Amino acid sequence: MTDADFDVLILGAGSGGYACALRAAQLGLKVGLVEKGKIGGTCLHVGCIPTKALLHAAEVADSARDADQFGVRATLDGIDMTKVGSYKDGVVSRLFKGLTGLIASRGITVIEGDGRLTGPREVTVDGTAYSGRHVVLATGSYAKSLPGLEINGSTVITSEEALRLDRVPESVVVLGGGVIGCEFASVWRSFGAEVTIVEALPRLVAAEDEASSKALERAFRKRKIRFLTGTPFQGVESTGDGVAVTVEGGEVIEAELLLVAVGRGPATDGLGFEEQGVAMERGFVLADDHCRTNVDGVYAVGDIVPGLQLAHRGFQQGIFVAEEIAGLDPTPIDETGIPRITYSEPEIASVGLDEATAVERFGADGIATLTYDLGGNGKSQILKTQGFVKLIRQKDGPIVGVHLVGSRVGELIGEAQLIYGWEGYAEDVAPLVHAHPTMNEALGEAHLALAGKPLHSHS
Ligand code: FAD
Repeated sequence: MTDADFDVLILGAGSGGYACALRAAQLGLKVGLVEKGKIGGTCLHVGCIPTKALLHAAEVADSARDADQFGVRATLDGIDMTKVGSYKDGVVSRLFKGLTGLIASRGITVIEGDGRLTGPREVTVDGTAYSGRHVVLATGSYAKSLPGLEINGSTVITSEEALRLDRVPESVVVLGGGVIGCEFASVWRSFGAEVTIVEALPRLVAAEDEASSKALERAFRKRKIRFLTGTPFQGVESTGDGVAVTVEGGEVIEAELLLVAVGRGPATDGLGFEEQGVAMERGFVLADDHCRTNVDGVYAVGDIVPGLQLAHRGFQQGIFVAEEIAGLDPTPIDETGIPRITYSEPEIASVGLDEATAVERFGADGIATLTYDLGGNGKSQILKTQGFVKLIRQKDGPIVGVHLVGSRVGELIGEAQLIYGWEGYAEDVAPLVHAHPTMNEALGEAHLALAGKPLHSHS
């Protein structure tokens, strides 16, 4: 094996690619990792981590603004975006340093540059060909726009520019009421901006259970985040110092900025995948439940594979592929068991099926649901957060869906995920002792109620 030959050659060092590299190296395989940007990809540099830092700063702003309701005298004197930016960048750079150190310590060869698949087992980077006994495609995704809607980077922006803004805009139109749109709407509102979300679908975060969308909408209404659902975007014009956005029905909304958050497309264009016979659909790489493409020895992980575009899905697929290549016969990932979180204020977290899908699958008589209001949960009262735990079970069967709404409920999804993944029954969970007073206790209470023995609730 020469320096240009690897057991595993990975194209793209985002969540999926670097997780695969770390695990493969741990298993003793010789790994080459090709990256044209920065190791860590979207999630670390322009996705999960920086957005969650902004959301935390937003939470601190809300705490200062709302301190009086807890008897604490404080005033919010403004947002210093330069400082918010350095806090955010500090978090990213510490994690980046840790990650690059880890990659180096595992003996992974990092190949810097723009790679292209030039043979079924060959990637060419800046004129040099590298070969792999196995090749893993992990080139990630990019922010999409709509036909005719041009991103100019100053008044019409994507999440990448939004993360770099050096000021709090006075007003913003957010095009797209999905996870990314709702997170930025939440941040900007906490920082004091006038926010309008324009969404073509009938509700915000339409991929979530309808009850969760409705709860988020109620909370956003209270926070004076305006949203127009079922309202397609029609066009945008420059007003000199901002934008005028026209939506179906004729309303024109003027704002300083338009954030385009209409989803993410697969970054696969021009990378040679199709030429090498890799089966694709609308730019996505088709892979089976073992992350195998139709080309022998070529795998695909992360956002380029149809399904949930989430970092932790990419991590798990990367680990899976490394173990598969090492012959460990890992268990395929259950996509429905992947937890999903919208980190706005309030948060939405879920795992398993939503109610509509559960009804489709088992019939309306084949399921039972229970909603436990956080009003009965001591810690939620202390924190003054509102929301619920909604459980969906198969009639006389296991829990098939858990849906949470409330401040920081994302932190509770781990237990829900175990219950779902281990096919737990409400009766199995009910006797588990949950610490008091915690928000986590709400999950325990909901299962008690579903098992027919409610404690701090009526049903
Ligand atoms: P990426 O992370 O996009 O990595 C792909 C890498 O491949 C990049 O580094 C790129 O430079 C490199 N590359 C591409 N083409 C080539 C080439 N030809 N040659 C060499 N290198 C190449 N997910 C969550 O789970 N939680 C969150 O809170 C969350 N928040 C998000 C917030 C925002 C604003 C965004 C945009 C995304 C968020 N995501 C979140 C999604 C998450 O970031 C992605 O699901 C994840 O990064 C996908 O990992 P990946 O490995 O498929 O691709």
